[in-house]
Order: sequence, then C-alpha cells, then structure tokens
Amino acid sequence: MDEKAKKLISEAKKSIESVMNLLEVEEIRVKYLGKKGEITQALRSLGEYSEDERPIVGRFLNEARETVRDMIETRRGKIASIELENKLKAEDLDITLPGKRPSIGARHPVNVVYEELERIFAHLGFEVLEGPDVELDYNNFEALNVPRNHPSRDIQDTFYITDDIVLRTHTTCVDIRIMKNCKPPIRAIIPGKVYRSDASDPSHLPVFHQLDGLVVDEGITFGDVKGVLARFAHEFFGPDTDVRFRPSYFPFTEPSAEMDVSCVICHGSGCRLCKHTGWLEILGSGLLHPRVLREVGYDPEEVSGLAFGMGIDRVTMLKYGIDDIRLLAENDMAFNRQFIHA
Ligand SMILES: [Zn+2]
Repeated sequence: MDEKAKKLISEAKKSIESVMNLLEVEEIRVKYLGKKGEITQALRSLGEYSEDERPIVGRFLNEARETVRDMIETRRGKIASIELENKLKAEDLDITLPGKRPSIGARHPVNVVYEELERIFAHLGFEVLEGPDVELDYNNFEALNVPRNHPSRDIQDTFYITDDIVLRTHTTCVDIRIMKNCKPPIRAIIPGKVYRSDASDPSHLPVFHQLDGLVVDEGITFGDVKGVLARFAHEFFGPDTDVRFRPSYFPFTEPSAEMDVSCVICHGSGCRLCKHTGWLEILGSGLLHPRVLREVGYDPEEVSGLAFGMGIDRVTMLKYGIDDIRLLAENDMAFNRQFIHA
C-alpha cells in the first residue's frame, strides 16, 4: 500500500506540474479529489481492506489527499501569478513607472507683473480701484475732454455697443467714476482690461491690460509725476534705470509727457529692441486738465491732480524679453510655466 500511495502521489505531482492553466488545474483536482476522484474513491473503498490494513491504508490515503491538495493550491497560485505577469506584459504596462502627475497650472506672466506693480504702488500709498469694462461714452471720452467731434477719437478705434456705450478704450474712464464719488485726497491705481478694434499682430491685441494711476490733492505738481514714476521705474526695472520725460499730448492732461526708461537690454547703448535709441517708451502721464477737474465738480484753484497710464502687457514683454504680445493671449501652458517661479 505504501508503494501504491507513493505512486499515486508521484503521478499526481507529475500531472500537476505539467499543467499550464487554471482550467487544467481544476481538472486535476477533480480527477484526484473530486467526488469520483481517485483518492476519494480509494478512501471510500477502505472497507475492502482487512481490519489490520485499514488504518494504515487510511492514513496513507489521507496523507496523499493532503499532499495533492497542497500541490494543487501551490500550482494554482503559481499559474495565477504567471498569467498576471503575461497579461501585464501583453498590455505593455510597466507598473514600476511613476504615475502620471496632474498638470499643475502656472500664474500668467501678466498676473505676475500686475502683482508686482500693485506691490510697488501700494508702498507709495496707492489703493487699487476698479470699474466696469462696459462704459459710458461720457466717462470714456467726453468727461476726459474728448468731445464727440474731437480728432483724437479717430486715434482710438473703439468698440461701440450703442452710441452712448463703449467697451472702454482705457482704464482712465474709471478716474472719472472715482473723482465723482470721492473727495480728495485720492491716490489710486486702476488696473483692468481695455479694448481697441485692432487686428492682432506682434505688438497689438484687441484686448489688453492697462494700469492707470490717479492722484488728486492740494498742490500736486509735475514734480510729483516725475517723483512717483521715477520711483516706480527704479523699483520695477532696477535701481540703475534712467528715466526721461518727453512732452506729449493727451486731451485730459496738461502738461502731458511720455516717460521713457533706459533700454532693459542694452542699457542705453542701442539695440534692436530700443530701435537703437537706447530708450523705451513706457507710459503716458501728466497733470489733470482743469476742464476734467471742473467736469467732476472739483475747483482747479483748490486741487490739482496727476494721471498716468501704462500697458501691463507691454511692461511684461519688456521685463521678460517677450517679443510677441500674442503669446500672452494664447495660454500655452509651456509658455506660461516659465514664469511659475517669477
Ligand atoms: Zn536697447
């Protein structure tokens, strides 16, 4: 009997090791351990043995049953892991690779620069005030000394919604809202989107960002214009930056001036960016026209004011050496992400 049991076990072992899939493992389990399996049947036939033999044969068969059961379970586990491995290989999936990270957004460079401008002017005592993008023609033009027939209306190509309502062409219109609602002293910056019906090209967009400044108080002079704006230029472009003011014309300021800063690339010696002049035009400025002060109900004999305005996109381009304004509107993450640590 000993030999018979050994033979049974060695045969079972052979067939178990030769099978390659779980279905065949199950067939072997049925063959030996199923209701009509060889070991099961042998155990049932114990009565055919003599009383002396019975316990010995019974022990052998029970041991054989346990051994075969263990072998089947081991084989089943091995095949399962082989099948999983093959499946993973077939799917070409490397589970040791790091997972895909969700794409993390970046601050837009215009926002980065705007926040810096806000910080610089906050240190100079300016508060941030905003107004609507859709504006009355009156606030955008007329109150700023640009009557309907004024030639400078041709300079700005305006999106008209009705005869009296426009998409604002500058944030200077908010100056009127502020002055009509507040008493001096006023010291505010006014950021926001502005609209011109320009076609897009490397230096124009139909929607861009402007930052205006407004100061109204007793005794504001052109010295204040120069002081505030030179301080801004040194903070923003660096302490070695030179500034110069050139006479200019804006309907709502008198006198008016453009401010230039020494070129951020060549520092004055001349390059392509500054068109070999050594200077970059940054902003327009001036003292508020007495007509504007009267229009909002102020007495030009009592108070005076200054205003300035700059393109946030333009100073962003100068600061980071961006040569096409359209890049700022495309929201290309690879482009924006360059400024994530700015
Ligand atoms: Zn230059």
